[in-house]
Amino acid sequence: MTRPIRVEIFVDAIRHNYLFAKQKAPQSRAWAVVKADAYGHGVRRVAAALADVADGFALLNIEDAIALRAMGIAAPIMLLEGPFDAGEVKTMAEHRLSGAVHGVHQLPWLAAAPGPVEVWPKVNSGMNRLGFRPAELAGVLAELAAMPQVRIGAVMTHFATADDTAGVEEQWATFEPLLRGLGLPVSAANSAALWDFPATHCDWVRPGICLYGCSPFADRLGAELGLKAAMRLSADVIAVQTLAAGEAVGYGRRFIADKPMRIGIVACGYADGYPRVAGNGTPVAVDGVPSGLVGRVSMDMLAVDLSDLPAAGVGSTVELWGPNVPIETVAASAGTIGYELMCAIAPRVPRVYPD
Ligand SMILES: *Cc1c(COP(=O)(O)O)cnc(C)c1O
Repeated sequence: MTRPIRVEIFVDAIRHNYLFAKQKAPQSRAWAVVKADAYGHGVRRVAAALADVADGFALLNIEDAIALRAMGIAAPIMLLEGPFDAGEVKTMAEHRLSGAVHGVHQLPWLAAAPGPVEVWPKVNSGMNRLGFRPAELAGVLAELAAMPQVRIGAVMTHFATADDTAGVEEQWATFEPLLRGLGLPVSAANSAALWDFPATHCDWVRPGICLYGCSPFADRLGAELGLKAAMRLSADVIAVQTLAAGEAVGYGRRFIADKPMRIGIVACGYADGYPRVAGNGTPVAVDGVPSGLVGRVSMDMLAVDLSDLPAAGVGSTVELWGPNVPIETVAASAGTIGYELMCAIAPRVPRVYPD
């Protein structure tokens, strides 16, 4: 690796965040949600770091689940979208994988399971993405109960607005009455509900984004929640330009200097996963000192203001997000959320695991 860009992943922070999330829901077990390659952090590395503490791992790709089993992970593993075809039910039985069941099309596959499988029936309590309608649940549970190889792990649902002012009230009022008298374990809370709605903790919580140190809330940073950033994207200054007032930087001349300026050109662009739409002034840290983005992000480069940083120059390291630059702030400046930035780190960016 010679191009001076890297993404550091701090697995100790992920451990801290998992254990911290557990403290928030002390009566519950917690799936470590590691879908999307552990939100871009590397599912194998993250699973290895949590192997001795995690109650279970939740993800989508059966290939990743098999990889975790091959690593020797014995904890429960759950497929959050369940089997995508009958063949996956066979694989679930072979590797002792649990899976959501969210639609009637999956029932015949489960009925033909060649060995024991655990399923987590999912209720659509208002998000209208996956799950059975509340009125369908009893019938589905009866069908599953008639399948000798199938056992039920828990009934689950997923919240659409646990992270904003709408909260979970309406969905909870739909979901909670269904559970009475079933005698089945329950799982509902994502990171946001884990923080703000303890009544929804139940038997299993499902923290995802908080494990990686990012807040699920638009109005609170991860650090304010007691989380530690687990990802630092950084790249070095590879050129310096000295601008006179009136000169512009980059494509579209989107930034024009209103005074003499020093600009650092950094080896990171949108082809690395940095959002092209990030605006002027999006925070960065140059050798640890706060500064901001100037001009339009290119494919392979971006520009930052070095005017107040006389010691900075070629070779200076620019943190684009991480412990010193909240990913939530960068995401907001690009009109998105930290989740998307983490997941969009390009394969060409080397991943480094300092812990
Ligand atoms: C992704 C996901 C989670 C985790 O959500 P976060 O907001 O990242 O905590 C929980 N449950 C389901 C079903 C999910 O798909």
